[in-house]
Amino acid sequence: MRFFLHGVKVPHRKNTEKMAAVRMPAPASVTIPMQQHIGKPALPIVKPGDEVFVGTLIAEQDGFISSPVYSSVSGKVKSLTDLLMPNGVKCRAIVIESDGNMTPDPSVAPPTVTNKAELVEAIRRSGTVGLGGAGFPSYVKFNIPEGKTVDELIINGAECEPYITSDTRTMVDKSDDMLHGIVTILDLLNIPRAVIGIEGNKKEAIASMKAMAEKDPRISVKVLLTLYPQGAEKVIIYHTVGKVTPAGKLPLDVGCIVTNCTTVACIGNYLKVGMPLVSKCVTVDGGALNGRGNVIVPIGTSLKEVFEFIGGFSEFPHKVLLGGPMMGHAVASLDIPVMKNTNATLAVTEDEIREKKHTACIRCGACVSHCPLSLNPQAYLKAYNAGKTEVLEKLRVDICMECGCCSFICPTAQPLVETNKLAKGLLRSLAAEKKKKEEEKKMKEESKNVRAE
Ligand code: SF4
Ligand code: SF4
Repeated sequence: MRFFLHGVKVPHRKNTEKMAAVRMPAPASVTIPMQQHIGKPALPIVKPGDEVFVGTLIAEQDGFISSPVYSSVSGKVKSLTDLLMPNGVKCRAIVIESDGNMTPDPSVAPPTVTNKAELVEAIRRSGTVGLGGAGFPSYVKFNIPEGKTVDELIINGAECEPYITSDTRTMVDKSDDMLHGIVTILDLLNIPRAVIGIEGNKKEAIASMKAMAEKDPRISVKVLLTLYPQGAEKVIIYHTVGKVTPAGKLPLDVGCIVTNCTTVACIGNYLKVGMPLVSKCVTVDGGALNGRGNVIVPIGTSLKEVFEFIGGFSEFPHKVLLGGPMMGHAVASLDIPVMKNTNATLAVTEDEIREKKHTACIRCGACVSHCPLSLNPQAYLKAYNAGKTEVLEKLRVDICMECGCCSFICPTAQPLVETNKLAKGLLRSLAAEKKKKEEEKKMKEESKNVRAE
């Protein structure tokens, strides 16, 4: 697999990069989903009528890969409900009516952290998940298995998606929290060095991170080319430390942990003050709005209230996105709440994301030559449309990281990344079906053997 300089030049539109985050006031109510992370949804432990504070545990982690959830406001639990998420999946959510006071939970206090086990437990309790958008529970990532060593902690400050500047603001405004998080992780997990990867167009963030790196010789800054998707995990590993992560392997397999800059700042802040993840800095932008900015939003606040806080709509938006235009989801309702891994919400006009005219594929090869993983999205499209799942398997559609470079560059508007997502889902469900059948067959054989005995 080659990485080199593949990728695409996207319009940056970092309109809010100089705008420090402002905290929005307590909303009247919040709707906090149980599924804000990869893994099993959290298990609610509160009931209607319960009093809660900012930082009160309202849902326990359920299973090995899951994450606890905390109240983002003080007030009373109103109800437990089902919420339709942007990906079309329903999940449980806790509705809390705010008393407007934002009173912190009296139990909030910095954790005692002196060794690896205590650090991993503190990260679990902080409710931190990958805040670059992935939502993978951070304590799982930092719980390095026995026998594995990590040579580099890579801090992802690339922020390569258009519009989004919330990570930039973390690097400029929260470098103390970042430093505390990085140094504690290096010390207690015995990682010799940390490298912060930042795209070259973020001058203020680079200066801030270089000043921070001077405080600890184990930390360095690597300025990356401004080319989407420098922030993709395997791409940033290659461009910061020169290692290639083979297909199907994890960063840990090449001695790396990659974590987003806001994630490490969140961990650093929790270690200092003990307040878990209850609010999120969100870039709010787009031509259909009267204002724009970076806003610190209590988790569970509806997009509607966030847009109202920034000044409301100047025109009917063509699309409302959760996340950026390359990897974000279009949402059908403004009732969708801000979640742990929400880094932006955009209300864009038709002009801003003018869609190309769909015509037949001209076999120009641009989708292949721009794919950062050197995949063949045009072949995936052909195989998927023909129902050839064995071809999809052979060409490894499963390792597509859904970055959207292929769709962005295609002159004939083929639904490439969309097809890849469908194809990956199809292969996953076929694999699950196959596994189920094998288990049923095994059970039948076992019960036949028992009867024969
Ligand atoms: S970029 Fe589009 S038109 Fe060109 S080969 Fe790929 S799918 Fe076909
Ligand atoms: S979406 Fe997948 S196939 Fe398309 S460019 Fe990105 S990694 Fe390559």
